[in-house]
Amino acid sequence: LATGDILVSERWRTHLGDDVPWPVLTFEDWLSRVHEDDRRGFQLAVESHLSGESSNLHYEYRLRTANGRYRIMVCRGICQRDGQGQPIRLSGTQSDLTERKYLDPITGLPNIEFLQSELNEHFRNDTSAPLTLMLVAIPNRSALTLRLTHPETVLARRMVVDRLRTLISPDEHLIMMPDISFALLLRREDTRELEALAEHIRSLFEEPLIIDEHRLWISMVMSSVTAHEPGIENAESLLGAARIALRHARQTGLGTYQTYAREIRQSSETRIQIEQHLRTALRHDGIRVYLQPLVDFRRGQVSGFEALSRIELPDGALVPPGQFIPVAEESGLIRPLSDRMIDLSLPLLNDPALLERYGQDFQLAINLSPTQLHDPQLPRSLARKLEALSVNPRRMKIEITESSVMASPALALSLIRQFRDMGMRIALDDFGTGYSSLSYLRSLPLDVIKIDRSLVSGIHQDEEKRAILEMIISLCERLELQTVAEGIEEEAELGCVLGLGATNGQGYLFGRPMTAAELLRRVPLSGFLTPAMS
Ligand code: C2E
Ligand code: CA
Ligand code: CA
Repeated sequence: LATGDILVSERWRTHLGDDVPWPVLTFEDWLSRVHEDDRRGFQLAVESHLSGESSNLHYEYRLRTANGRYRIMVCRGICQRDGQGQPIRLSGTQSDLTERKYLDPITGLPNIEFLQSELNEHFRNDTSAPLTLMLVAIPNRSALTLRLTHPETVLARRMVVDRLRTLISPDEHLIMMPDISFALLLRREDTRELEALAEHIRSLFEEPLIIDEHRLWISMVMSSVTAHEPGIENAESLLGAARIALRHARQTGLGTYQTYAREIRQSSETRIQIEQHLRTALRHDGIRVYLQPLVDFRRGQVSGFEALSRIELPDGALVPPGQFIPVAEESGLIRPLSDRMIDLSLPLLNDPALLERYGQDFQLAINLSPTQLHDPQLPRSLARKLEALSVNPRRMKIEITESSVMASPALALSLIRQFRDMGMRIALDDFGTGYSSLSYLRSLPLDVIKIDRSLVSGIHQDEEKRAILEMIISLCERLELQTVAEGIEEEAELGCVLGLGATNGQGYLFGRPMTAAELLRRVPLSGFLTPAMS
């Protein structure tokens, strides 16, 4: 430190290249190779250790290496001091993290894999050290980026990152999450300090981002969970809890900061438990396909089945999808779950006993969740699987809910087109709940409308429901769409929907969701419609 010289071991020579003085470098030589966005932070980290503020040096930065490429380094060091406590010499190690640290190409920030490995390390080793995970999401993100060109969105993202980066100290991390939210991995746990930080983040975005002629006001929601909360035992539970708190923050309103508080712990503990069940089920064959028959009213017989998922727990108990589908969506497990459902249910289309009972062309319907409408690979991968099984794609029906179509109509439309081009059929699920808009029935290339149970149950005693159903069915007739009346439980309801002209029905009256084996025991091909009704 007296001369300002740096001595570097031989191994680093090849790493750094020939254009640096050797074997003694100056600190400036070194700094000049540090990525300019990281330079100031690195300098500060060194200063803070030399001045005694931090007990050691621990800093990650990008360093330019021999071929001009940046690699991610973690630099760890400690200084020796003289009798007066003055630093004499700083020594330590530097390791290349590049392979371990996956980076978001736009922002250069580490991504979720890195976060997971950091968290795993924490829970494996130093669980006593303070650690908090803070999530920052921008709910109005799509409204913002809709108006921007791609280069402008890149710029906007970098600007957001630059503001956030100022908040974290050298041993903390700012991480880019897959859904374009941010995670802050903090080495502090003090509640007030965290609140102040959240406030600070809010204040950073009081001023709009200015990109060309656009002024973008960023709104955000935040959540935090400290690793010492009860119930937090590993990376998964910490991330899960932070996501749950974030969801609460979203529901509360913009600008909200939500800690993983006691009130939400209870509900989240069950969620965390369900997530664990789901993970275990995915790993150990605990996912079951239940089939519910659909009855074709014109032929008076079973025309196919809807595949509905269940988790079977080791003790044989079943978890219904209403509990785990939302958790799967939030935890990113919906894709593996759906892949599993597809792999388990497609072969049923070739099941000899089912073919014998229900005919060679019985159909199978699967449900897609909103996030799956973002997976452009899905139509092709499904088509490939059907081909491998030599199954005609016409026997495959894809159920998509109204609300997921409404969430991203353009995306949904393009996926729907692909499925249909491959010969599969599309059913709009849960029609009549929430968003219903008769007008877009015309604009989507659909084959089937599934009318939600809420419009069907008790229809024989409800004038208004009958009027609505009549209107939907007659519109569908005109558009040449099939209609499935869902949730038929009673003969009287069946009589009513038949009278209104629904083409298909589904409900406990014909059969609850059950395993294929049960189906063969209990559900005949026909005989559901009494002569008086058909
Ligand atoms: P859904 O697609 O609307 O499925 C119909 C639901 O109504 C099923 O609930 C079924 O058991 C229930 N149901 C059918 N007939 C009757 C009836 O007569 N009376 C009553 N009370 N209920 C009836 P389930 O199996 O609990 O599934 C709930 C939802 O979970 C499904 O609603 C679907 O949206 C979702 N889901 C199930 N499996 C999957 C899956 O593998 N992937 C995705 N993305 N979603 C799934
Ligand atoms: Ca469905
Ligand atoms: Ca439905």
